[in-house]
Amino acid sequence: MYLTKCAVCATELGLSSGKKCGRCSTRYCGAACQEQHWREGGHDKLCKKIKKAGGAEQYNANMKYVEAVTVAAEACAEDTKGQTCFICTQALHWKTKEGLVRGCSCRGTAGFAHVSCLVEQAKILFAEAEENNLGPKVKHERFKRWEKCSLCEQEYHGVVRCALGWACWKTYVGRPKTDPARRQAMSALGNGLYASGHYADALSMQEAELSRMRRLGLPEQHLLIAQGNLAITYQMLGRFEEANRIKRDVYSGFLKLKGEEDHYTIRAANNYAWGLYELERFEEVKTLLRKTIPAARRVFGESHNLTLRMRWSYARALYHDDDATLDDVRESVTTLEETERTARRVLGGAHPDVVGIEDSLRKARAMLCAGEGDTGSAVRALRELVAAMPPPGSSA
Ligand SMILES: [Zn+2]
Ligand SMILES: [Zn+2]
Ligand SMILES: [Zn+2]
Ligand SMILES: [Zn+2]
Repeated sequence: MYLTKCAVCATELGLSSGKKCGRCSTRYCGAACQEQHWREGGHDKLCKKIKKAGGAEQYNANMKYVEAVTVAAEACAEDTKGQTCFICTQALHWKTKEGLVRGCSCRGTAGFAHVSCLVEQAKILFAEAEENNLGPKVKHERFKRWEKCSLCEQEYHGVVRCALGWACWKTYVGRPKTDPARRQAMSALGNGLYASGHYADALSMQEAELSRMRRLGLPEQHLLIAQGNLAITYQMLGRFEEANRIKRDVYSGFLKLKGEEDHYTIRAANNYAWGLYELERFEEVKTLLRKTIPAARRVFGESHNLTLRMRWSYARALYHDDDATLDDVRESVTTLEETERTARRVLGGAHPDVVGIEDSLRKARAMLCAGEGDTGSAVRALRELVAAMPPPGSSA
């Protein structure tokens, strides 16, 4: 994550203003803060250490990584009790002594690992692709190992994704700013911060990154991806209108650039639909998703988590709409039943999406029961019950 604040007084400095320590690149708003940091803030002792680690940005990433691994291992302690790492086969990591984590869709005794071991795996896999010059497509595929489990092939979630995001960033932050791996690492970290609920951190990083990309004049596609991530963070911070304006632009941008049957366009549509849902513009949600779900099925397949999320959103828009007919509610229940079955098979019963879909299904069923008895008042009463539901999550 870019360090954009004065190390002493936390004044926001953006990407380039202020002063830097000549040795270690720690950033300050001006000479006064720098001097104070040296005299009273312990910088006289730390400066050498930070420089040796590779500079302030690298040093910060290293520290944050260690913190994030501790948080992840603690959060997973209960779930991983008595298990061993599928990579090194030990319970405690031989070197770091860290505990195990699991934050994917592996079930039973599968998928327990040390963050350090997952990191080694991703690092080696990508380095091999670089050494053998395996081409951008293979490199891109391999880079995904930073965000996806090699056993269940699902994305990591929560604190595990956050720890891997920091690991990824600390691995590539030292590279030139135009290096593709560094750029992907930044996005992996953004996703990790987002997945673990660090929305304000994710936002400041994404805004800095977007303005840097604009300055560099990067291709439209890169800008649209960055804007899309930014919009999702706005949404999580409750800035719905801003989020939705960007999402609409990103969607129409990709539609123009790539056409309807493209995974970027479909992702953008999913995010836009989610934003419309938050604003209770259910009619637009339905129209958009009716058009996009068939494309998602063709491009990603029935059991991809994006297809599942889109069907989930569609079903919720169906029964949430004030003008919902009994047929709409019926269609909603059928859709949710199918989605739940597939999601449970692919993601496992403990996955947050599956828990959410089940919750929606319970409510849609209740609405249907009531609706079949009395189509008027019962549906209205239940609609109020349903109104307080959490949004379907969406990752960048
Ligand atoms: Zn300052
Ligand atoms: Zn220094
Ligand atoms: Zn291990
Ligand atoms: Zn897994």
